[in-house]
Amino acid sequence: MGLSGHKVAPKVYFAIGISGAPQHLAGITDAKIVVAVNKDKSAPIFKNADYGVVADLYQFIPVLIKKIKERKGQA
Ligand SMILES: Cc1cc2nc3c(=O)[nH]c(=O)nc-3n(C[C@H](O)[C@H](O)[C@H](O)COP(=O)(O)OP(=O)(O)OC[C@H]3O[C@@H](n4cnc5c(N)ncnc54)[C@H](O)[C@@H]3O)c2cc1C
Repeated sequence: MGLSGHKVAPKVYFAIGISGAPQHLAGITDAKIVVAVNKDKSAPIFKNADYGVVADLYQFIPVLIKKIKERKGQA
């Protein structure tokens, strides 16, 4: 996804372990909401995100999936 890949326009785009290089950002400019998860609080993606989580993705994502399943009644 990006300058040399696809351009996407989702309602919500999860940038998980994505630094936020300009070449990548070029592909997500039409995303309505950008949620960034990165363990580096100074990662450039946070300047382009509506919501940011500073965390290790291997710890955060399983918790997020569990919570989503609980809300959907699948847990
Ligand atoms: C001509 C040209 C065209 C390009 N076109 C594209 C393009 O179309 N699309 C594209 O994506 N790139 C493109 N690039 C490459 C771009 O410049 C970047 O190198 C690339 O986007 C970096 O990808 P990344 O953020 O996934 O990886 P990295 O730069 O390696 O960043 C990884 C990020 O993940 C975080 N991270 C690592 N481990 C964890 C963890 N356990 N938990 C949480 N966070 C973690 C790190 O803190 C870091 O911020 C292009 C480059 C050039 C020169």
